[in-house]
Amino acid sequence: MVIDPKKQLVDYWIKEGIIVDKRLIKAFEAVPREDFISPDYVGEAYGDYPLPIGYGQTISQPSTIMIMTEALELRPGDKVLEIGTGCGYQAAILAKMAGPDGKVITTEIIPELAELAKSNLERIYIKNVEVIPVDGSGGFPAYAPYDRIIVTAACPEIPHVLVEQLKEEGVIVAPVGPLHSQQMIKARKEEGKLKTESLGFFIFVPLRGKYGFRS
Ligand code: SAH
Repeated sequence: MVIDPKKQLVDYWIKEGIIVDKRLIKAFEAVPREDFISPDYVGEAYGDYPLPIGYGQTISQPSTIMIMTEALELRPGDKVLEIGTGCGYQAAILAKMAGPDGKVITTEIIPELAELAKSNLERIYIKNVEVIPVDGSGGFPAYAPYDRIIVTAACPEIPHVLVEQLKEEGVIVAPVGPLHSQQMIKARKEEGKLKTESLGFFIFVPLRGKYGFRS
């Protein structure tokens, strides 16, 4: 019997209740993770662990990406801000969830990775993502307010400027805490303030820039 590692992941996520939104399963199935990683690791595309993408950065573990995306409660037509594009894989999943009427704005502080993400997304014909090579730790006010914000690098706290750029009733998901381990925070903006819950502990590469960790 041939084992399909992509299907194994989906079965595991459904069994464990990690994915409830059927649209997220479709999004995962539609995006080839192997197209976002270096040829050196292509055999490991569906291993449930992060992989190096160069410049000391990583593509997040598939389960982590699903937990964050599920938590984001993305609806078709949403405008989403991602901070930390990396190779663009998470952005591709967000793009599928937001659909043709939605839009993903994603920021990346390392220009070479922003370029890599752009070409990866173009190669699989994803058109509703704009990759912006900037320090995104303060968000991206030009397109604000956003329905959803996702931070894919560890931040010392949720930058208050991100709360300002989030719509009322909007959701933000971010790994928050010290460099060695962070709590995944899901928060909804209610009457201008964040109502937060923790989704458990994770380890991310650090957020740099103005509101990130000083390097
Ligand atoms: N979303 C990615 C995860 C990339 S890892 C995925 O799909 O797997 C986190 C990324 O955040 C790294 O590429 C890092 O360079 C970037 N980053 C760190 N600080 C940043 C900042 N202030 N603004 C934008 N990107 C940042």
